[in-house]
Amino acid sequence: MTAIIDGKAISQKIKDELKEEVARKKAQGRSATLAVIQVGNDPASTVYVGNKKKACAYIGIESESFELPEETTQDELLEVIDRLNDDPGITGILVQLPVPAHIDEDTIIRRISPLKDVDGFHPMSVGALCIGEKGFVSCTPAGIMKLLEYSGIDVSGKECVVIGRSNIVGKPMSLLLLRANGTVTICHSKTKNLKEVASRADILVVAIGRPRMINEEYVKDGAVVIDVGIHRMEDGKLCGDVDFDRVKDKCSAITPVPGGVGPMTIAMLMYNVVSAM
Ligand code: NDP
Repeated sequence: MTAIIDGKAISQKIKDELKEEVARKKAQGRSATLAVIQVGNDPASTVYVGNKKKACAYIGIESESFELPEETTQDELLEVIDRLNDDPGITGILVQLPVPAHIDEDTIIRRISPLKDVDGFHPMSVGALCIGEKGFVSCTPAGIMKLLEYSGIDVSGKECVVIGRSNIVGKPMSLLLLRANGTVTICHSKTKNLKEVASRADILVVAIGRPRMINEEYVKDGAVVIDVGIHRMEDGKLCGDVDFDRVKDKCSAITPVPGGVGPMTIAMLMYNVVSAM
């Protein structure tokens, strides 16, 4: 029987554990405030920002919103970040991405203090992960490690294949699997014989941004399949990068879309915010 990994339930469990930890830390006189910056009013970003603020309220930490108009210049945004970096009352800073095209995303990411970089995107956070030092870890891959842990899936010694090498998912994912002693292969758009490489995996993580591309031909019998992709189809339904119906009977465990990796991202953002408390 294939196990369907329930990201909704696991993320709820993590948020409940964090709620208790926040109460304990507050009792010791510690506090946390997450600054959430949104530039412009992209509807999807507004939903994400709203969900992040709701999650803060749920676990008992403060959030402060900075809703800046679309025409905000890069310098103006950098000034806001500088102010928040210097504000001892702010423990985490998040700039909702994407930012409008006239603002350079990398410049913004680099300006956030690594001590407050709860998204884990700053090069120093990524570097710390690379050399196994303490630091904030990108939320989606960190969430996947929690999904594996809470599902009792041991990574050590396993063949792990990650399809996708983006800075926010594929690369940190590969480093985390390596840190957990997996034998890791990273695939991308230039990989030859992708089916053959993917079907070596005991644990296959798919983050390619192509709806239902990965079918049973890419999957070994009994593999664990983690689907990071999320796509809204024409019929309004969500699907992942994995063709769930074709793959599910072949693997031992799989994350659904929605309800798999997605809910973990905000839970791990909260985890990062609380760890900075
Ligand atoms: P990117 O577009 O930044 O990266 C995609 C990666 O997939 C690239 O490394 C690319 O290779 C590779 N790729 C693309 N096509 C192929 C192919 N045909 N064969 C092999 N590799 C391929 O995407 P992200 O990492 O940001 O996101 C991936 C997916 O995950 C998206 O669907 C996104 O929406 C979703 N996502 C979900 C999150 C969640 O919370 N659930 C959070 C973040 C992302 P190359 O480098 O060679 O171009």
